[in-house]
Formats: sequence, C-alpha cells, structure tokens
Amino acid sequence: MKCAGRCILVGSLILGGSHTLAGNQSSPRVGMLEQAGWAAIKAGNHKAAAEAFAEATKLEPKNASLWLGAGYTEFLLRHDAEAKAYLQRALDLDPKLSLARAQLAQVVKRQGDLAEAIRLYEIVATELPDEKGVADTLDRWKRERELHERMRVEVGDHFTVSFEGPEDAEMAAQALESLNRAFWRITDVFGTFPARKIPVVLYSGEQFRDITRSPQWAAAAFDGIIRVPMRGAGEKGEDLDRVLAHEFSHAMIRSLATRGLPTWLNEGLASALEAPDDLSWTDKTMATVAKAPSLAVLSTSFARLNGRDAQVAYAASTRAAKRLLDEAGGVAIANLLRDLGDGKEFEAAFLHRIQKSLVDFESSLSQ
Ligand SMILES: [Zn+2]
Repeated sequence: MKCAGRCILVGSLILGGSHTLAGNQSSPRVGMLEQAGWAAIKAGNHKAAAEAFAEATKLEPKNASLWLGAGYTEFLLRHDAEAKAYLQRALDLDPKLSLARAQLAQVVKRQGDLAEAIRLYEIVATELPDEKGVADTLDRWKRERELHERMRVEVGDHFTVSFEGPEDAEMAAQALESLNRAFWRITDVFGTFPARKIPVVLYSGEQFRDITRSPQWAAAAFDGIIRVPMRGAGEKGEDLDRVLAHEFSHAMIRSLATRGLPTWLNEGLASALEAPDDLSWTDKTMATVAKAPSLAVLSTSFARLNGRDAQVAYAASTRAAKRLLDEAGGVAIANLLRDLGDGKEFEAAFLHRIQKSLVDFESSLSQ
C-alpha cells in the first residue's frame, strides 16, 4: 500500500528566479554563500545548503534573505522547529519578506496548525496578488478547513476519526475498530506507544486528491493526520485494514523520529507492518527488475515517481525493512528512530543500534 508524504512548497516560487534575494550590501563572500545555498537546494543537496546558509547567517546575522534560505532548507530537511525559528527571524528583520511568510505558513500547516497557516497565507495573498499558486493554495486550505468544520468526530481511546455525513458513521466505526487492531499489533512490535491520540480523517476520493494532492497511486496519506479516501479505497477493492495499518505505522514512526528518516526506512517499515504475513508481492515485483535501486537512491521522497517506479521503490524498501525487523527487531529499530529524531547521523546510529554497518546490511540484501 502506498502513501505519499506530500509537501506543497513555495519552492517553485523561490527557485523560479523571479526574486532577487541577495542583499545589495552583502559582502562578496556572503553573496557567494547565498548563491551556493540556493544552487545546492536546486540540486537536492540539502546538507550542503544548510552549511552554506549557516556560514552566511553567521557572517551577516541581520540579512533576512539568508534566514529565509536557512529556514527553507530546514523545511526541506523536515526540521520544522528550526525552520519556524529561522523564518520567523527573517520576518522580524524584514516584515515585508513575503516568501518567508509563505514558507512559514507551510511549516505551521505541516505542524498541524491550519488556522495559523491560513492567517499567514491570507497576508501573503494580498502581498503577492499576481501569484496564482498562492491563491490556489489558500483556496485549497480554506476548503480543507470548511470540510473539517462540518465533519463529525468519533472519539476512541487512541484515535479520533472525522467523517462527513451520517451515511459514513458506520464506516467510521469500522475504521476505528480496524485502527485499534493495528494499534495493538504495531505498538507491540516497537515496544512503545504514541504520546497522544492520532487524528484520522475519512474523505471521499475527490476530497482526498484535492486536499492532499497525493500522486494518483497513493492509497492514503499521513502528514500528522491520517488521511484516507474511504469511498475511493472501497471502490478499488483495497483492504481497509492494510491502508489503516500502513498509515498508523507512519504515525508511530513519526512519534519516534520527526526527522532524519530515509524514505526507504519510513515507507519500508509501514509497508512491511501493514500485513506482515503477506509480503510475497515484494519478491514478485523485485523479480521483474534487473537490479534493485540502492538504499541511497531510496532515501529521498517517492512522491516524484511514476506508478511503476514507485512500485519497485516500495518493494525494495519493504524487503529491506522486513529484513531489519527480522534481524534486529522492532525495539532496536525504535531506538534507531529515536536517535534519528535526536539529530544523530543515520549511518552512525544504524551501526550503533543494528550492530551492523549500513554497507554490510545493504550488501546482505541481495544474498
Ligand atoms: Zn506510506
């Protein structure tokens, strides 16, 4: 089962080149670092971007556009607390820096504060009236708010399930039961519980595509909220238990590590845990490719992949995660995730918690 962690970025706006960001008064060194930072973002090298902006902000701490770059980079790295602080600093230095406000809105939206995200974006929309993307995003967020306001909520011990009409009440009760089964099974694997109740929203297929903007192949999504297209899932005959267990696994993983997580580990664990007794699809899929994609390639988001490539990416990731579960166990993996959440570097944390180097682990996968 697939899902896409989706992020709508004003990145296209920033990287589109229509805005001159370098402060005129910048020293040549700072100008160079700023340019290098944006080039690194464009090339997908977020670590190099973070380093460039860190040095630049040290040299010119009062340059708002540098903090925008630093904040945007942290957003891409999913370091939301840092992203928020840096973007806020950019706005404190230059309250007219709309791009920082727009990016800050994306951060608070991802943190679950839709009301604040809309408030910020409404300001951005007045500041950038010609940016169609801004108006579209604002409209979509408002549709999401309106929909959620008219939804009913079924409250369980571990989840709250929101749904739209009375005709969905039975489906919501069924989803809650399914989620509770997944809860006990998967918390047992990791030996830990999520800190708080997890919000679940049931959508129609159309609402789901509109609000999450997931790729066509996505069966559900998790972005702090488990979002499931109920009627859509039913129509495709997909197994609700699998979809919900998959998304709950993401919620568990996120409660242990909000950052530093390679996509193969996140998606692989969720796929391996959705129905652990039925993983034959991974071997079938892998038998159709000459060579499995490397874990390094599988570390970035799958959202950009087409259906076929996504299937291979999921199969390879699931196979790796299953091996990890079998060899090291869920508790060791939970400790690895906690280390990543604490900011530890992946390969070092892997060696420490799994007692095997990542390189050795990867080469053992093909054996
Ligand atoms: Zn997923």
